[in-house]
Amino acid sequence: MKKILILGGGMGGVEAAIALTQKLKGDYQINLISNRDFLYIYPASIWLTVGKRTLEDLSVPLPQLAELHGFNFLHEDVQEISTKEHKVITTTQEHTYDYLIAALGSSKLKPKGVEHTLSICGTPADGMQIQERFLSLVEQGHGAIACGFSGNPQDATAVRGGPVFEVLFNFDTYLREKGIRDRFELTFFSPSDAPGNRLGEGGLAQLQKLFQERDIQTVTGKKIKEFTDSGVIFADDSHLKTDFTVFTPGLAGNPIFKQSDLPLTDAGFIPVGETSQITGLEHCYAIGDSSFFEGPTWRARQGHLAEVMARTTAANIAQQERGETASASFRDELNLLCIMDLGHDGVFVYRDENREIAPRGAWAHWAKLAWEQYYKLNKLGKMPRLI
Ligand SMILES: Cc1cc2nc3c(=O)[nH]c(=O)nc-3n(C[C@H](O)[C@H](O)[C@H](O)COP(=O)(O)OP(=O)(O)OC[C@H]3O[C@@H](n4cnc5c(N)ncnc54)[C@H](O)[C@@H]3O)c2cc1C
Repeated sequence: MKKILILGGGMGGVEAAIALTQKLKGDYQINLISNRDFLYIYPASIWLTVGKRTLEDLSVPLPQLAELHGFNFLHEDVQEISTKEHKVITTTQEHTYDYLIAALGSSKLKPKGVEHTLSICGTPADGMQIQERFLSLVEQGHGAIACGFSGNPQDATAVRGGPVFEVLFNFDTYLREKGIRDRFELTFFSPSDAPGNRLGEGGLAQLQKLFQERDIQTVTGKKIKEFTDSGVIFADDSHLKTDFTVFTPGLAGNPIFKQSDLPLTDAGFIPVGETSQITGLEHCYAIGDSSFFEGPTWRARQGHLAEVMARTTAANIAQQERGETASASFRDELNLLCIMDLGHDGVFVYRDENREIAPRGAWAHWAKLAWEQYYKLNKLGKMPRLI
């Protein structure tokens, strides 16, 4: 029996497992290994920060998904990957494979003093800590909160700013709902001169308008020297004083990839072609945040792309099993698609080779809420896939 080993039970890994159970006919063992026993819905975790979701709301149990869709789930921590020996070592055992799919997500850079900050792009527990810190300031009745992000100089695609804007605007909306916004200072900061430029001209214009409308201070284009328990110190030694700093550093590859013989980019991501096959390795694939591919400057590490790459990978493994060359490509579905939620409304951002739009409205907020329900119901087999 042929074995397919999927590393990582996030948005990419789970979609790959489901797609493989649908594409492969015959006797195959599909094993998904993950160090969390639940699929975490990161896009909806922005609402965790203001107490509008619990960790349970955002989690889908992997054992349930495995049983429902017909793959095996192994709750283990990956330690080492050897593609030469077709072997993966975890904290509990050694696995062999015929096909490997790396979907372990990414990690974050560690700028000086980052331990004084919290990131929404970290573990679910980090998201919960943001909620606790934010709600304790709300209880105190006043405070200064700064939200920011930076990139990775080794990889222009290794940046995650969208969720930081969403957290900031959701904080603002929550404080207005409580009628205490005037007792809080909210600041956005980033060393980049044009943070959010991936959103396109329309998206950037929406951001500028929103900062003004919502009375949010901005500090951009200033390099960060370090974070302290009293805020952010910039390279020019100016000090942004905060009671609480939310910060997402630039992204980097998962550290486990360094414990492997996989090819890696300077930033530690796994280079793939448009079939999602890892450069030089026919039977090994990398998808989602773990991967790097050449493409338009606006491309971004997104959940929906992780899913497209997962389905491409399943189609290619099925082709290879039929004795054909892997030819399915994720290029045709490459776009930037996200809803930047603002609390009661949202900005719908779409970019591809030909179009660039960023309309705003309450409908965008409702669309994101609907997507969250759809995503869960679809994974639980209660609703067919729509997109
Ligand atoms: C707050 C936030 C909001 C977002 N909003 C959007 C959005 O609105 N739209 C959108 O398209 N995208 C959004 N994204 C991006 C999206 O969530 C990611 O691109 C997507 O989750 C990537 O999927 P992945 O499977 O590659 O990685 P992940 O979802 O990160 O999954 C990686 C998995 O690997 C597991 N793992 C890691 N290391 C090990 C190990 N050593 N051993 C075993 N298992 C391991 C992890 O536990 C995890 O389950 C958002 C991201 C964040 C953080």
